[in-house]
Amino acid sequence: MTPTDVSILLTSDALQTRIRELAAEIRRDAPGVELHFICVLKGAFLFLADLLRAMKGPVTVDFLAVTSYGTATSSSGEVRLVKDLDTGLQGRDVIIVEDIVDTGLTLHYLQDILRARGPRSLKTACLLSKPARRKISVDVEYIGFTIEDRFVVGYGLDYDERYRNLPFIGALP
Ligand code: 5GP
Repeated sequence: MTPTDVSILLTSDALQTRIRELAAEIRRDAPGVELHFICVLKGAFLFLADLLRAMKGPVTVDFLAVTSYGTATSSSGEVRLVKDLDTGLQGRDVIIVEDIVDTGLTLHYLQDILRARGPRSLKTACLLSKPARRKISVDVEYIGFTIEDRFVVGYGLDYDERYRNLPFIGALP
């Protein structure tokens, strides 16, 4: 499949506008606070890059990577940490930055293990949400867009490691 097979759901402009709004909202809720952003690799790397550039005030950043077993378009719900953070979270105000919340299992797992590390606060920012597929309820304080149950690619999200470079969010046929 080539990018021409991908139909655009959210344009680059729509993404940038919404991300600037999210950044303002996150800062409004935590004025003057140093926020520690945790990017969930790989899918959230472009979202993190744009969100961070739109953030005012003090911020720090770290990265982790998870993998979930399953097929290319559907996760089994078994989540494994494959790259851990470089620094601890004790007393920090943490924002998890994730690409999409689907069944909710990945975020549920991540929130659990990160909360156990003693942050002062723990919130989550997710670019996309597919509520129709939720299997477990998770708190996501900042959601960019709620979308229908379709497999999406682009802007960091992949199908078999491809399409991450697309500047928009699109759906495969
Ligand atoms: P959950 O654990 O909430 O079911 O799934 C979260 C992970 O599944 C996301 O971080 C993402 O990697 C993957 N995922 C879920 N839906 C989609 C989708 O529509 N497109 C892509 N590319 N990945 C998805």
